[in-house]
Amino acid sequence: MAERTWETIESGTPDPMPFMHPVMKKNYGKWVFHSHPKPGVLYHRAENGDEVWTVKAGTQRQMDHYTIRKLADIADQFADGFVRFTTRSNIEYMVADKNKVEPLIKTLTDNGFPIGGTANSVSMIAHTQGWLHCDIPASDASGATKALMDELYHEFTHCEMPNRVKLSTSCCEINCGGQADIAIIIQHTKPPKINHDLVANVCERPSVVARCPVAAIRPALVNGKPSLEVDEKKCICCGACFPPCPPMQINDPEHSKFAIWVGGKNANARAKPTFHKLVAAGLPNNPPRWPEVSQVVKKILNVYKDDAHSWERLSDWVERIGWPAFFEKTGLPFTKYHIDNWRGSRSSLNASTHIRF
Ligand code: SF4
Ligand code: SF4
Repeated sequence: MAERTWETIESGTPDPMPFMHPVMKKNYGKWVFHSHPKPGVLYHRAENGDEVWTVKAGTQRQMDHYTIRKLADIADQFADGFVRFTTRSNIEYMVADKNKVEPLIKTLTDNGFPIGGTANSVSMIAHTQGWLHCDIPASDASGATKALMDELYHEFTHCEMPNRVKLSTSCCEINCGGQADIAIIIQHTKPPKINHDLVANVCERPSVVARCPVAAIRPALVNGKPSLEVDEKKCICCGACFPPCPPMQINDPEHSKFAIWVGGKNANARAKPTFHKLVAAGLPNNPPRWPEVSQVVKKILNVYKDDAHSWERLSDWVERIGWPAFFEKTGLPFTKYHIDNWRGSRSSLNASTHIRF
């Protein structure tokens, strides 16, 4: 069997070694000290005294190749030609010469790339593909992210939050995205509309039936053609049937809304990882600036900033003050839709840890 290199592996993260800054590669696993000199800058010192500064800058993620070339030129000038992108679309330059750190920061700032996103700042939003790349989005996660980060510029470039704040945006309810202190997620509010003329030609009906987490889809004969039907009383409007069967159209300019969830985290520092919880629903999917979404996120962030203790993550803060106080302090309405009282999930939701396609 041929030797597997990063080029031959088609899934998972590639081997970072070929692209790693030489000082980092040389001292891999041998770092003895690190600090955070200022927002957007990290400092690491190795056993042998080698030093490296990491400068983190925000990008707009969807970039034309002129912007990529500009970022690459800056890497050639200051960082020996090495860069890396984080999962949140920040770009990081590793600099082994202290004298280059401030000129690098100035060049990035002059070119419109803000420096920040480290420690207790609001980091760049992890967001999904949106209209540009994916075939099932109900919104443009990248656009909603850009609009919100324009308004959170100060919070990205300053470390003024009680603890780090991770945000995420997802443009459908079922696939990518992830746990975050504040997550902005599409929420469908109506069952799919079925184009019966297309189902027989486009969809593999048993897979679509199997895909529904609440068994709401049945095979049906419509106008003499094999098709599908949905029991709308059972349907939870998740949209899982739409990817395998595009004629089950769930995206809708009016009925696909945004919802905000808070308190998720992947880290197990101080407290165990948590799932985020729904706090605001039915926000309009309103491009190009999604002002209603930005307003709710900023409201939550402002209250958290004023009310949380130092180093309390958003979930720790909510746990301390309690959910009634969260809704009282943020002024968000608490409705019956916030209560998850559905008992059927254990037996019918796909709760397995196995990944299925
Ligand atoms: S969140 Fe859904 S719609 Fe958006 S990119 Fe991921 S799979 Fe596509
Ligand atoms: S939207 Fe979800 S719950 Fe409704 S029919 Fe499709 S898969 Fe089932």
